[in-house]
Amino acid sequence: MLKKRLLWQIYPYFLLIIFISVVGLAWYGSHSLRNFHLDQVDEDLKSRAILIERQISDKLTNQQFKEIDDLCKYIGQASATRITVILPYGEVIADSDELPSRMKNHADRPEFQGAVDKGIGKSLRFSDTLGKKMMYLAIPLKQDGKVIGVIRTSVPVTAIDEALNSIYKRLFFAGVIIAICAAIISLAISKKISRPVEQMTEGARHFASGKLDMRLSIPNVVELAELAKALNEMSRELDSRIKTITEERSHIQAVLSSMVEGVLAVDSSGHIVSINEAAGRLLCIDKEKVDGLNIEEAIRNPKLQQYVKNTLENRQVAETESFAINDGSCFLQLHGSALTNDKSENTGAVFVLHDITSTHQLEEIRRDFVANVSHELKTPITSIKGFAETLLEGAINEPEQSERFLKIIVKHSDRLTAIIEDLLSLSRLEENGKKIMLSFETTSLKPTLVSAIELAKVRAEQKHIKIDLFCDEEVRAKINSPLIEQAILNLIDNAVKYSQSKNNIQVIAQASRDEVLIKVADNGCGITAKHLNRIFERFYVVDKGRSRKLGGTGLGLSIVKHIAQVHGGYVGVESTIGNGSTFTIHLPI
Ligand code: ADP
Repeated sequence: MLKKRLLWQIYPYFLLIIFISVVGLAWYGSHSLRNFHLDQVDEDLKSRAILIERQISDKLTNQQFKEIDDLCKYIGQASATRITVILPYGEVIADSDELPSRMKNHADRPEFQGAVDKGIGKSLRFSDTLGKKMMYLAIPLKQDGKVIGVIRTSVPVTAIDEALNSIYKRLFFAGVIIAICAAIISLAISKKISRPVEQMTEGARHFASGKLDMRLSIPNVVELAELAKALNEMSRELDSRIKTITEERSHIQAVLSSMVEGVLAVDSSGHIVSINEAAGRLLCIDKEKVDGLNIEEAIRNPKLQQYVKNTLENRQVAETESFAINDGSCFLQLHGSALTNDKSENTGAVFVLHDITSTHQLEEIRRDFVANVSHELKTPITSIKGFAETLLEGAINEPEQSERFLKIIVKHSDRLTAIIEDLLSLSRLEENGKKIMLSFETTSLKPTLVSAIELAKVRAEQKHIKIDLFCDEEVRAKINSPLIEQAILNLIDNAVKYSQSKNNIQVIAQASRDEVLIKVADNGCGITAKHLNRIFERFYVVDKGRSRKLGGTGLGLSIVKHIAQVHGGYVGVESTIGNGSTFTIHLPI
């Protein structure tokens, strides 16, 4: 249906009312005016007829028709009235405007018949004699109750019509002016009525577009004022609800953003509806770019896509699953939960992602460690068992052989002891590291370093290696002295092991602004760059044969690393192949 503005709903009716009123009034006014005018003329004609009635009556009794005609002509001219005298059977005997002999019988004239029958006759019609529209009035002339003639007075109505027409014209112009004024006034009134409604419509449109802080002005029409108040109340209520929802949303956003776990929500068709920073980071995708995308377009991991699909289809909490992403460099654990509305319809699913890369790596380290330990222990045990069996099988009776075998057994037992001691040291360090049971004391480093050098001296002297110490008395650090001594001893032992004879070793302790550095520098064989970041791992050795020959267990540097860590520090290495290595323990002050 064609919709019109309220103004155009009201205004045409106003115009119609104005038109009907003006036309009706004009018609009624002009009609009344004309009747009034005709009544006046009527009365006038009657008075004139009555005035000449007596004079004509006498003359008629005496049959003085000529005198009557003259009289009629005289009075008719003087009063601008046509006067006619008619005998009872219709013959005209006198007329002010015409020769009676030339006039037809008037018995059929309605005014004549009215006068004879009812005592007065009137007629408004066209006169054949004069050729104009006339108003006639006739009264009977009586003698002894008998009609002896009829006097008819008449005037042309053209003058009346002309007068009336001029009045009609004025009435018409006045009507048009009144109608225009009324139309303008009603347009103003229509606008006044429709303006508050239009203002409210405009306001409601603002509300719909989200400008809820504005308020509508209250119109002075009760119904509209109520409507405006209701709209204002609605916008206030909406504003406060939207603010609450926005606040809750930002709280949820803040919680999601601060979560270490990734959170990913999809709708029932698998499109991403929410993803937090952690999820973006873990899945290596741009959070902003994938919002709204289908999971299959956003994350190119078939296993993860299938998991999301299963969760959505099964509509329940899905079993937790682990995924390798980024070509196996990261591992994620996913926990999915389907979402349903109050009608139990599927509305999507939410997934929580845990980064289990470090756990995975630890698990791998643990597996390697067990394998390494087993292997490292198995080798000396196999040798010990082999030589012991050989002895049992008879070699014990050959003193030379048995002494050699027993020495080998002792050597392998020493190795076993060394490995077990190192393992115990490591496990103690880890335990202590966790429980923080160690005692630390801020003390001068020099005595600890001197003591470590003393212990290493015997082996160093065997290779004619001199150990130089550069350490001021005032270099102090918060240390557990026995552990630092063990760490330095391990480093010096390695330096001795992997240096040619007569290649001196330097032990240097320095204090900077925020840390103390203990360096053990040698001029030995050095380490290839590719091994540098792995030599601190348990059982990692660069050259297995060489290490074993030199009595190494592959655990020495790992112990040094742990000792540095329990002191809140770390260990680093710089090495050039053929030029020697420098190991540095960094201790915080
Ligand atoms: P090991 O008991 O075999 O010495 P470590 O954990 O102490 O085990 O050392 C790991 C590896 O690092 C060694 O096998 C050796 O190859 C290398 N390494 C350690 N210290 C030095 C050094 N000062 N010079 C050269 N290589 C070294």
